[in-house]
Amino acid sequence: MTAVPTHAGSFRSLETPLSESILSTLDEMGFETMTPVQSGAIPLFMKNKDVVVEAVTGSGKTLSFVVPILEKLLRREEPLKNHEIGAVVITPTRELAQQIHSVFEKFVTHNEREEDVRLGLFIGGSSSLAEDITTFKKTHPRILIGTPGRLEELLTKSAQLVNTKELEVLVMDEADRLLDMGFSKQLSSIIAHLPKQRRTGLFSATMTDALSELVRAGLRNPVRIVVKVEDLANKGVIQRTPATLDIDYLVCDADQKLLQLARILSSELEQEDGSRKFIVYFATCAMVDYFYKILSRLSSLKPFSFHSLHGQMDTKRRSATYTSFTELSPAIPAVLLCTDVASRGLDISDLDYVIQYDPPQDPKAFSHRAGRAGRAGRKGRATVLLVRGREEVYVEFLKLRKIPLVRRPYILPDHTLFDNSVNEDDMDDDKATSVQVKDDSLADFIKDVRAIVKTDRDLNDRAIMAFVSWARAYSKHEASYIFRIKDLDLGKLAMGFGLLKLPKMPELKAQQTQPGYVNTFVEEEGFDWDTYKYTDKMREAKRLRELKEYQEKMAKAKPQPKKKVNAAWSEKVDAKERKVVRKEKKQAKKEFLKKQELEAKETKKRDLEEDLEDWEEEKMAKKVRKGRMEKGAFEEMF
Ligand code: ADP
Ligand code: MG
Repeated sequence: MTAVPTHAGSFRSLETPLSESILSTLDEMGFETMTPVQSGAIPLFMKNKDVVVEAVTGSGKTLSFVVPILEKLLRREEPLKNHEIGAVVITPTRELAQQIHSVFEKFVTHNEREEDVRLGLFIGGSSSLAEDITTFKKTHPRILIGTPGRLEELLTKSAQLVNTKELEVLVMDEADRLLDMGFSKQLSSIIAHLPKQRRTGLFSATMTDALSELVRAGLRNPVRIVVKVEDLANKGVIQRTPATLDIDYLVCDADQKLLQLARILSSELEQEDGSRKFIVYFATCAMVDYFYKILSRLSSLKPFSFHSLHGQMDTKRRSATYTSFTELSPAIPAVLLCTDVASRGLDISDLDYVIQYDPPQDPKAFSHRAGRAGRAGRKGRATVLLVRGREEVYVEFLKLRKIPLVRRPYILPDHTLFDNSVNEDDMDDDKATSVQVKDDSLADFIKDVRAIVKTDRDLNDRAIMAFVSWARAYSKHEASYIFRIKDLDLGKLAMGFGLLKLPKMPELKAQQTQPGYVNTFVEEEGFDWDTYKYTDKMREAKRLRELKEYQEKMAKAKPQPKKKVNAAWSEKVDAKERKVVRKEKKQAKKEFLKKQELEAKETKKRDLEEDLEDWEEEKMAKKVRKGRMEKGAFEEMF
């Protein structure tokens, strides 16, 4: 590990001076002094050292590899020939690759030696492999930036196309995420195609053990550069998030989450110096889709421009959304709703506020999400919404991971704040640290949401999908002792989603059959499902057709025990749900058997241990009998 100076020098003061063209671009960007991570990494990376760089979000890691790569290629005695490449930069997501490409571009576009550092962006999705090959042949890039899948194809599947013999640098940005996403096969394959005589750099705000695998694969005696942040309030305590980022948590009941989200947004808008650009993280793609449709229609949020981004969108829409959000005038208040596709690396200028509607499944993602704000010394704010009860333990959990959170009060209808923390004296158990807030306008808010859902049957479908997907995602939390679905009031939660009725799902069944179960879900009364329309004409026609067929079939059939006539779609869903239930039962059985097997093993182990103990005791007893050990000592031992 190497120490990094706290007062990082200027880019012009580096021992091995940078090229004039690079210095002048840095001037244009308005960057004179290096950030600590840059002053630690740039000289080493240029001095032919492999580096593993771990530094908080927004600390300027990108330039720590962009500058050395450009510098190395510009300094070559013999410039690269066509088809030869000098550097490869791998990132886990397309958006991040695009962003890094655009940082490189600032240095390359007007460089008089542009062709020695020409860029190629290869991210798949929007272009086919064949198209990318054509682009490569036409443009002769020297620096490849992209995602692992497409880069691997380009480097390995089309023999003789890319010549890597002269390659000098390999960089993996958000390296731990690359592994988490299961790209290790592609990475190994890429690495196998690169010369051993090269520099490698790994960059991230969080490094994991899995990384040592990568390190073994390709790094030679790497220098580890760790830049830590001291918590200014608690001097000497190291924290994992930037000091300019205020992270807090808001506790409310499960049916109040959406309401609190809406109030955070609108109350910021009221303040003259409040935040204007927000990111809101949800657990699943279906949730992003659904809440996008709801939030963008809530009258209290009219002034906001909403955007949505998730992994199930096609690349074109993804990049269109992303650019429209990032290029929006700073004056327009805007919210990007997204899943974790947008949690890593993205550097969105003017982003003020990160809200985590759902805490992330992977605890590591927390600091990455929050770290979209408070970058490069700018002030930023982040809030995570937690459901009253067990979820509150998450705060302690994060504290242990060096992510300190402060509590923020509940936001009342008039945007005044209400301290809902429990008096320390009244605290009966350690998890519920908050009291329930009786919010008189909650019912009206849910009514508003439901009114939106009622405008289009499609929204009902989406609401259900969002809810079901949420439940699935919830059970995949890594911190599974904090996020336990059975500890949540699913009825309230479904209210908060604006559902018109409860879907049939195993998680709910499990709760409903518990002794003492109280139903907190209020079904939409007197709602006519048969006339509930899709606004999409084709879908509506199809529904009506199926409904009619169904009704005719029911009429023809022998009078059956009364069954509520439902629309065809929900029937299908029921069938689907039954299938899911069956599958889940099967899974449960499998798990049960596995558990039994494990338990059997445990018992066996215990028995064995006990046997051993007995044996020890027996041996000792013998010793005592033979008078080699005093009886007192023997008794003390057992
Ligand atoms: P990281 O990868 O560490 O999360 P980035 O490289 O994305 O951070 O940089 C975060 C922000 O800091 C960017 O907006 C970038 O332009 C800015 N930045 C980088 N280096 C400097 C510098 N030396 N001085 C001022 N701002 C910088
Ligand atoms: Mg980065």
